[in-house]
Amino acid sequence: MPNHLWMTDEHRAYRDTVARFFAEDFEPNRRDWTTAGVIPRAFWKKAGDLGLLGATIPEDHGGLDLSRHFDAVTFIEQARAGDSGWGFSVHNIATHYIVAYGTDEQKSRWLPKLASGEMVGAIAMTEPGTGSDLQAVRTTAIADGNEYLINGSKTFITNGGSADLLVLVAKTDPKSRSKGVSLLIVETEGLDGFSVGRRLDKLGMKRNDTAELNFDDVRIPRTHLLGSEEGEGFYQLMKQLPWERLILGYGALGAAQCALDVTLDYVRERKAFGQRIMDFQNTRFQLAECATKIELLAAFLDQCLEELEQGSLTPEKAAMAKWWGSQAQCEIIDECLQLHGGYGYMSEYLICELYADARVQKIYGGTNEIMKELIARGLDKD
Ligand SMILES: Cc1cc2nc3c(=O)[nH]c(=O)nc-3n(C[C@H](O)[C@H](O)[C@H](O)COP(=O)(O)OP(=O)(O)OC[C@H]3O[C@@H](n4cnc5c(N)ncnc54)[C@H](O)[C@@H]3O)c2cc1C
Repeated sequence: MPNHLWMTDEHRAYRDTVARFFAEDFEPNRRDWTTAGVIPRAFWKKAGDLGLLGATIPEDHGGLDLSRHFDAVTFIEQARAGDSGWGFSVHNIATHYIVAYGTDEQKSRWLPKLASGEMVGAIAMTEPGTGSDLQAVRTTAIADGNEYLINGSKTFITNGGSADLLVLVAKTDPKSRSKGVSLLIVETEGLDGFSVGRRLDKLGMKRNDTAELNFDDVRIPRTHLLGSEEGEGFYQLMKQLPWERLILGYGALGAAQCALDVTLDYVRERKAFGQRIMDFQNTRFQLAECATKIELLAAFLDQCLEELEQGSLTPEKAAMAKWWGSQAQCEIIDECLQLHGGYGYMSEYLICELYADARVQKIYGGTNEIMKELIARGLDKD
């Protein structure tokens, strides 16, 4: 396991808490929750009780006011436990929008509930007609007296079927592109005109609730606009994206480590031609490459995290962490599956689940092509 130089005894104790939480509260339920296609609310509440949901939320709003290193610990440990079903990443992202841009009233209203697990958060950007091109969203939120009138639909929304709070990307000025985009907070409970569409069947991430959302003349108070003015949404999204990309990077790191761990167990046990699979030079070289990539990824992510905390992480570097991290994750898991032979293709082996779950990492959070485009734009500046 990589040595994160920033880790103190406090981080290690936190890591032990998260690892125990997954061993005791997640692992025995893995199969049932995979079949159910959703993580029960009791798990969220327990995570809230342990302080995991509010680690980086200010203390006066129900959190622990810790640095993002603690969230990184949770993302790594969740993935190391072989889970990508619990939608903590998007809950955390939704929370950070309110921390960054919420008024005092908004923070007091929502953050304590997001920290305790009473509310589950989601972020609703993608629509059936547009994903990468966020400026082209067609969901509208039109001011009408003291309210916004919302119409449109979203798809692929993580936690979509169970979320109580959505950070919604909508056009407050449908005629403009980026300047027309705003972020609004939508409380879903009992909301007239709001409905959850299909819960989407996916290649992997079977425990994860991914859904379509529909807004048909939904009304919310104008005080639920995030930020001081309409039209700030695109800027707000761009400012938060580097953290979102590091979250995906740390998830990639944990999943790759999980794959290496289960594969080492397997190849030390399994025999062919009278020797352990581990003893073939090919196995040794492949696993050596995997372990090296894991160390490189950890070192790069940690450097990005330090820069993020200091306020100097560039969008280009965050994009590198996301694309390279997810690419390395997919390559490592593919190789680890290969070393399992036919058993790697069987659902009862964790490597099979890791393989299916990994693929989307190259797609969501900004596709890897968009990441490379962003990096290239930075290279092509005068
Ligand atoms: C399991 C899952 C969970 C998700 N969770 C969420 C969520 O919680 N909230 C949310 O809002 N969204 C979520 N998404 C949506 C995800 O972020 C989008 O799928 C992603 O941004 C890509 O958008 P798209 O699917 O519309 O693909 P498109 O934008 O249609 O892209 C199709 C292809 O064209 C390429 N392409 C597009 N533009 C360019 C370009 N300029 N240059 C080069 N290539 C380009 C893309 O890279 C891709 O290969 C989720 C998706 C999945 C699968």
